[in-house]
Amino acid sequence: MEMKIALVPGDGIGPDIVREAVRVLDRVASVYGHSISYRTIDAGGVSIDKYGIPLTDDALESAKEADAVLLGAVGGPKWDSCPGNKRPERALLGLRSGLGLFCNFRPAAIYPELSDASPLKKEIISDGVDLLVVRELTGGIYFGEKGRNDDGTEAFDMMRYSKQEIERISRKAFESARKRRGHVTLVDKANVLETSRLWRETVSALAAKEYSDVELDFMYVDNASMQLVRNPRAFDVILTENMFGDILSDEASMITGSIGMLASASLREDRFGMYEPIHGSAPDIAGQNIANPIATILSAGMMLRYSFSLDKEADAIDSAVRSFLSDGYRTKDIASGGEWVGTDEAGKIIEGRIS
Ligand code: NAD
Repeated sequence: MEMKIALVPGDGIGPDIVREAVRVLDRVASVYGHSISYRTIDAGGVSIDKYGIPLTDDALESAKEADAVLLGAVGGPKWDSCPGNKRPERALLGLRSGLGLFCNFRPAAIYPELSDASPLKKEIISDGVDLLVVRELTGGIYFGEKGRNDDGTEAFDMMRYSKQEIERISRKAFESARKRRGHVTLVDKANVLETSRLWRETVSALAAKEYSDVELDFMYVDNASMQLVRNPRAFDVILTENMFGDILSDEASMITGSIGMLASASLREDRFGMYEPIHGSAPDIAGQNIANPIATILSAGMMLRYSFSLDKEADAIDSAVRSFLSDGYRTKDIASGGEWVGTDEAGKIIEGRIS
């Protein structure tokens, strides 16, 4: 297969971790007989330095021309004094909205080798945790009408969803559940919110019509936030609207305890997607060859799976990471004070395990 990938290394540790993901992707391409062409795009602080804005129209156009985007991270103290609409992080919003990415996948898994890093008790996570938060990304209260009354003493934010917006993301959740353990939990607040009641109606109807093989249940968001720390094994795929997903996906990430290990994907209806680690640009460790590249390497694996349907190749990346860990290799952030390898060495070891 021929793949056109746009690379957005960004700032801080971004270029280092993207380099290691490319190393692993190149190895996958050579072992499995694919060809990958890359185009590097400036976005974030690096774009502010060169062009005065976090994302140029040309950069967005280049991203649109690719089959998928792999992003490192943007931002850093150098640009902290930039005004709100010129901050590096605006590049992320510009890419997400400019590329029409309405669906966010955030897997949260606890590797048995790293279970000590989880803040949860051993008995809660002893059977492992492996869940996927599917969050609606372009609707709901974050994008609804907002405003103040005349004297500024009252404010409102409108939460609005259409059936069509709910259906398209629900399909993504059901399809991904079919590739996992076949279970979707719709998280909402249907006892209070009308939008939540529309979600329940729409998701139930879709499940009955097209996804009767997938188990569907419902949970109120307050209960879901408790269950995530009490019994995270109860979840396979969590489907939810934008604001609830924002909060729950961070909570789910925290229970793994390893921010350098968590990947994400932002998708739209076709196969195009943007893939990135969930962490930021880690300016405190930039340029020291100690960043953990695994979240970005796993993001590249998600790209192969969701944008190119290369499941075998994506599995090879997941196995190479597992083998790195089970053989006792660690990067500094997950070494618990023990021995560790640098960013580039970690990339090389994982590359060497792709088969
Ligand atoms: P951060 O995720 O960059 O760092 C938080 C902590 O985790 C730091 O101690 C950092 O060293 C560590 N860390 C993060 N990634 C790591 C990795 N791969 N390996 C080892 N350790 C890692 O969050 P922050 O410090 O709040 O933000 C730093 C900058 O990143 C800010 O400018 C912020 O706006 C930006 N940011 C960008 C994104 C993005 O590009 N998607 C996301 C979050 C934050």
